[in-house]
Amino acid sequence: MAKGRLIVLTGPSGVGKGTLLKLLLKHHPELNLSISATTRPPRPGEVHGEHYFFVNRDQFQQMIEHDELLEWAEFAGNYYGTPRRAVEQKIAQGEWVILEIELIGARKVRDAFPNAFTIFLLPPSLEELEQRLRSRGHDDETSIERRLSRAQTEIKAAPEFDIQVVNDALDEALHKIQAALFTTVEC
Ligand code: ADP
Ligand code: 5GP
Repeated sequence: MAKGRLIVLTGPSGVGKGTLLKLLLKHHPELNLSISATTRPPRPGEVHGEHYFFVNRDQFQQMIEHDELLEWAEFAGNYYGTPRRAVEQKIAQGEWVILEIELIGARKVRDAFPNAFTIFLLPPSLEELEQRLRSRGHDDETSIERRLSRAQTEIKAAPEFDIQVVNDALDEALHKIQAALFTTVEC
């Protein structure tokens, strides 16, 4: 049976992780994207069970207490976590699973799963990151400021990860990720 693989995509909010993943999954429908749980309220158009499992803080706390999360972290005033069972099942079945998560969670996964392949996505500049967060139009000013301030810390951690990809031209970033995923030998 094929060997399962855990892939982590991290990088500051607004860098383009979701945009790139959408393209990657379109080209490679065999990849499985883990659906996280979050206490953040849904944005317009976001669907429970598709974009996130939207839960309240008590429910999130219960998930932590019952060891249902592979990792979790607080980000910009909300909690986010990876439901453990779906990921472990897919990997046991020989499938590839991608987590799209922030830095603290990515570090936890890297420590717990040394064979995970980790990708850090960088913005071309902080100015461009701010522009992307603003043009996305999803977050209020407080949330944008929290995300930008967190981004500066996160970017410094980029060298900790297996590869660093600058998301300047979207197609180029996608090609680099594809090349890294489909040519690296599992260790
Ligand atoms: P993240 O998932 O990392 O928070 P998103 O995928 O939501 O980021 O992207 C943030 C914004 O930046 C979106 O409006 C998206 O369309 C835009 N964007 C993503 N990649 C690029 C790129 N390479 N060039 C210009 N804009 C981009
Ligand atoms: P957003 O609110 O923009 O959807 O996500 C905010 C941040 O939380 C992003 O950097 C995203 O990668 C991260 N995130 C999403 N799901 C998870 C998760 O399950 N665990 C962790 N640690 N971070 C997550």
